[in-house]
Amino acid sequence: MMPREGVTCLTGPMGRDLAQHDCKGTCNWGPTDERIDDLQVFECASCRSEWTPAQAWTPRNADGQLSPKVAAARAENPVQSSW
Ligand SMILES: [Zn+2]
Repeated sequence: MMPREGVTCLTGPMGRDLAQHDCKGTCNWGPTDERIDDLQVFECASCRSEWTPAQAWTPRNADGQLSPKVAAARAENPVQSSW
């Protein structure tokens, strides 16, 4: 079974909570000008959910593709926990 670490710890000890909304299947993730703990904040243009590379999950666009900017940010900040 896949470990589900990180699910209970979506936010770190620093910074503010990220917005988490239900996606409508039309996600389109892009970078914002905001930073949390020196990590760039990304926002879904569809549902306004927010993400930073500190999260254990990685957002995908509605077409199943990683946004190049998201992929680059993830590459710079690899997930700490095992998959
Ligand atoms: Zn979304």
